[in-house]
This record gives sequence, C-alpha cells and structure tokens, in this order.
Amino acid sequence: MTYDPENIFAKILRGQIPAKKVYEDDHVLAFHDINPQAPVHVLVIPKGAYVSIHDFGAKASADEITGFFRAVSKIAAELGLIEPGFRTLSNSGLNAGQEVPHFHLHLFGGRPLGPMLARPPAP
Ligand code: 5GP
Repeated sequence: MTYDPENIFAKILRGQIPAKKVYEDDHVLAFHDINPQAPVHVLVIPKGAYVSIHDFGAKASADEITGFFRAVSKIAAELGLIEPGFRTLSNSGLNAGQEVPHFHLHLFGGRPLGPMLARPPAP
C-alpha cells in the first residue's frame, strides 16, 4: 500500500484537523481517540509517513523506532497506566480492520480490558 498524504492522521499532523494532544516530540504525536473504547484511549503516531506497523518496522530509521517506543513508555507513565496496567494494539491491513492508513498504536487503559480479541460473529 502506498502512503496517502490525505489520510486523516496526516491532516492532524499538518494541523488541518484538530486533535486533543497528549504528547509531542520530534518523532511522535499522541492524541485522544475521537471514539474512545476505554476510559483512556490514546493514539500514538510517528510523524513520518508510514502506512502500517509493518511499513514502520521495515523502513523507519533506528532513531524513529527508538523515539517511538520511548514515547509510548513516557505517555503510559504520564497517564498513570503502568501500575494498573494497559494494552497497546495496532491494526494492520484488511483482516485487522485498519481504518486509517498511517501507522498508529492504540493505548487503552483505565479499566480491566477483558479478553485480548473479540469473538468472531456467529456464522
Ligand atoms: P484503526 O481502525 O485504523 O486501527 O483505528 C483508527 C482510529 O482512529 C479509530 O479508533 C477512530 O476512532 C480514530 N479516528 C478516526 N478519525 C479520527 C479523528 O479525526 N480524530 C481522532 N482523534 N481519532 C480518529
């Protein structure tokens, strides 16, 4: 998949669409999800143009990758999620139902989060 610079997170990065910012540094932006699935639901995105976690892992520089995961840790700590626990998730491609084609890590917390995956719909 080629990167679409008109995707919604690219527009947030360019300041064309507002977002409730949680954290920002040279490599990373984090903001609240518009449709939260838990009391804490934050999206962490790299500033570089990567479609998915696969694209990011394959093409991003070591600095970008290190910066990204250092930021995830910092954000989780700042949100008070380390002791109670939290979940991260990244949807990649069709089977995962990825909606926005700019790599993002969901960060969920604030309550017990239940089973790791939803049951598939009954046949
Ligand atoms: P995906 O399904 O791609 O893993 O997740 C995309 C996420 O982006 C969804 O949880 C959705 O609620 C969130 N989202 C979509 N559009 C916007 C937006 O304009 N602003 C914010 N803050 N979140 C959005």
